[in-house]
Amino acid sequence: MKSHLNILSRLQGAGALPFADELLPFAERVAREALEALSPTRCAGCERAGALICQDCLAALTLIDPRHSCTRCGAPFGDLLCTECSVEGTSSAMSEALDRCLACAVYAHPLPRIIKAYKDAGERRLAPYLAELLYDTALHAQVVAPERLGGVLSGADAVAFVPATAAAFRRRGFDHMEAIARPFCELSGVPLLDALVKYGHGDQRELGREERRERAQGMYETVEDVHGRRLLLIDDVITTGATMATASAELKRAGAAAVDGIAIARVW
Ligand SMILES: [Zn+2]
Ligand SMILES: [Zn+2]
Repeated sequence: MKSHLNILSRLQGAGALPFADELLPFAERVAREALEALSPTRCAGCERAGALICQDCLAALTLIDPRHSCTRCGAPFGDLLCTECSVEGTSSAMSEALDRCLACAVYAHPLPRIIKAYKDAGERRLAPYLAELLYDTALHAQVVAPERLGGVLSGADAVAFVPATAAAFRRRGFDHMEAIARPFCELSGVPLLDALVKYGHGDQRELGREERRERAQGMYETVEDVHGRRLLLIDDVITTGATMATASAELKRAGAAAVDGIAIARVW
């Protein structure tokens, strides 16, 4: 496994990983692809013309340091568990269903705009960049925090993703996490397992925390053989963690040996 970007270790100042030198910087690649695009490309984070994600927006990401994140819910600043997960009885669904969890960055500028541009405005060219962000996060985490997140990528037998509902699929014309999972798997060499289907049509973003927890119950079904497998489950945003927990619990129910979760953004 090789890092294509190594942006996270650069931005986090955690020291360069040993295999980054021969590779093109992320911003350069984004800029180059922008020139090749037929229509004028604007930054999904700030609307500036030139690149899909500009250098300022990349630098503005509030990256989560995997050496100091909550391994249960991906929150930043939880040296072992975050303040929410370390309180008895909270986030219990997540802790039971997920073995470990991490997220690339805090859900703050520019990620809300970038994710919205990708999911709702149909800027599908963002998929490979979001895949690389996830990939670098996982790679970085297992290197800099081996005792907490070792093998989170290299130890996975397959990558699964939290699927869209049929209604969301129809509205957007694509499954937004599948479109990220595919390039993620190409980068990592870990096979894709399209293991879950999702029922229901609710858009959860308008709901409160409790409502989300309830609606998320029982919405997934495992449609591939996951028995005995160690899975890495990817999703876009962790808010309460209910979605990730429910999807993971279903995979465990179907026999998965382990499920780690990784998300692009963590609301915190
Ligand atoms: Zn920007
Ligand atoms: Zn936590």
